[in-house]
Amino acid sequence: MEVTFLGTAAANAYPEAFCRCVNCERARALGGPSLRKRSALLVNDDLLIDLGPDVMTASNLHRCPLTEVRYCLQTHPHADHLDTSHLLSRSPGYGVVGAPRLHFYGSAGTLRVAAERLRRDCAPHTLFDPEIGERLNLEIHQVEALQSFHIGEYQVTAFPANHDPAVDPLLYAVSGRGWSIFYGVDTASLPEAAWQALWRHKGAFDVVVLDHTYGPEETESDHLSARQVVEHMNRMREEGLLEDRARVFATHIAHEGNPPHPELASFAADHGYEVAYDGLRVKLRD
Ligand SMILES: [Zn+2]
Ligand SMILES: [Zn+2]
Ligand SMILES: [Zn+2]
Repeated sequence: MEVTFLGTAAANAYPEAFCRCVNCERARALGGPSLRKRSALLVNDDLLIDLGPDVMTASNLHRCPLTEVRYCLQTHPHADHLDTSHLLSRSPGYGVVGAPRLHFYGSAGTLRVAAERLRRDCAPHTLFDPEIGERLNLEIHQVEALQSFHIGEYQVTAFPANHDPAVDPLLYAVSGRGWSIFYGVDTASLPEAAWQALWRHKGAFDVVVLDHTYGPEETESDHLSARQVVEHMNRMREEGLLEDRARVFATHIAHEGNPPHPELASFAADHGYEVAYDGLRVKLRD
């Protein structure tokens, strides 16, 4: 079992293509892990978390084909996490051959926004047309916070995020045989309802991925900052939510306040967590 980080940047990528701030200029000069695309995660080769705007580029750049993807857990519909044009471009109508049916999971708010965008791009069909399954090789599943469900061989639980309430954003735990991961992006400090659900969730996590939009000298607002990531990691450990050798990764990293990768990774190492980078593969036990 493995997870691959397809992207690790916040909404405007890192470096921001139009920006000449110190962090963006240094990231350009350094290259490598300091170049970040918009956040998305691939679990094994068949489960995608967030159909983001950069998944096509990430797939080709990091040599991780998405041809076997049959499940997508969508956290929320903000543009840095959901590009509905991918739902069209992977369809038979665009000449795509042999792609499995995509089962797309999201909250009511996420599906509402996705449907509006798809109607705009694909009139007169909408996400909820009865024919959409055949036209787009797609099946839609509405899920709610605190709901648990099986998809294929995975057990999934959705958690409420502390983020734009207009779109019911969700965080996800995904478990398989002998492993469990938590994807906590986008969110500010987890709401107590999420903590309570994490306690009820069976089994501690091997990998936790947390929103790290804001850097070491910043405070949280609608996203976590470096200090809050440390606080969340410590609380998870104290409450028995982490396996002994669990790894905690920062992702969704913004150019404002977060230095380029080597410096941020050094700060993280000093505080007991790791900074993900695009193309990073993390293997877990089977
Ligand atoms: Zn975001
Ligand atoms: Zn910048
Ligand atoms: Zn967001």
